[in-house]
Amino acid sequence: MENGSGRLQKLESRVFSGERLGEEEALFLATEVPTPLLVDMADRLRRELNGDRVFYNRNIHFEPTNQCLYDCLFCAFRRDVGTGPEKGGWLLGADDLLRRLEAFPKGTLTELHITGGVHPGRNLEWAESFLRTLRAARPELHLKAFTAVEIDYFARSSRTTVEEALARLKEAGLGSLPGGGAEIFAPEVRRRIAGGKAPAQRWIEVHRAAHRIGLPTNATMLYGHVESAAQRVDHLLRLRDLQEETGGFQAFVPLRYRNGNNRLSALPEISADEERRVFALSRLVLNNVRHLKVYWVMSGMERALGLLRCGGDDLDGTINDSTRIYSMAGGQEHPCCDEKGMRLAIEAAGRVPCERDSLYRVLER
Ligand code: SF4
Repeated sequence: MENGSGRLQKLESRVFSGERLGEEEALFLATEVPTPLLVDMADRLRRELNGDRVFYNRNIHFEPTNQCLYDCLFCAFRRDVGTGPEKGGWLLGADDLLRRLEAFPKGTLTELHITGGVHPGRNLEWAESFLRTLRAARPELHLKAFTAVEIDYFARSSRTTVEEALARLKEAGLGSLPGGGAEIFAPEVRRRIAGGKAPAQRWIEVHRAAHRIGLPTNATMLYGHVESAAQRVDHLLRLRDLQEETGGFQAFVPLRYRNGNNRLSALPEISADEERRVFALSRLVLNNVRHLKVYWVMSGMERALGLLRCGGDDLDGTINDSTRIYSMAGGQEHPCCDEKGMRLAIEAAGRVPCERDSLYRVLER
């Protein structure tokens, strides 16, 4: 019978030659390989894929509304539809964003990252007009907008297909999709925590359709709540399979569950060791997705820099205190990092800072 180290060597050579791991093999990595070995393997694969560069971009987030039809148990951000500012609700449009952008003249940002709650008054026509207004006013900015859950709702509320919805949004200025809304694909977990929103198959369908019309996307996994190791592996392998088919994922973003102000708050957050294991596992299983993003807003910059040693190569982004999704759940209160600070932090981690655009092209300035 093969011993553990022989098995690990075989797995490693398969991962490094770009092969797909089977479910059992990935589960072996997830549960039986000691953290230092797992992290070391992921770090070496990261170096092979991306060298010592750490990518970053200059962006802000915009969350048009936190009023949402759905009611995900882990969400500290949402409010009931119609909730006013006195109870923490907001409903903003393109004009509000354009006013905010007055503080960011041309040349200071490259990307707008736009996601929010699913509001019944906002359909595909609203989304098209929103994007058109932004594109007309700030054509130099890449619009990375709307999760698969939002796209699903736009399509259904305007009685059309996701293919048609995405084609119209692309025409209106959409440049790429963020990866949110994936949570955990396993139906028993998704049903329990994700408030009845689009099932896994629909999330995958939206991303497949986006890739087919040349819209790149990211993918996420919300981990560290009620899911098992096997369910994480299942999630990663489903993403890997779609990437094999389309090649349209630019980056994978593991998102650690934070337990502030939501209905799963009784759950403890997972340990730093477990977090490192999830990043390393993600790097190894998704060996066909080029970038592993460390979303520093989720964990704070210090912890994020540590995750760059677990396979991460992308430290999104300057943010400028423009997102509330994680801060409302216990993440960094006012996430903001200017470009100089970003570069210094990356250098302090022993890596080479590299500004990218939204399509991961290196920007020389
Ligand atoms: S996670 Fe998204 S879809 Fe779920 S309740 Fe929060 S805003 Fe709504």
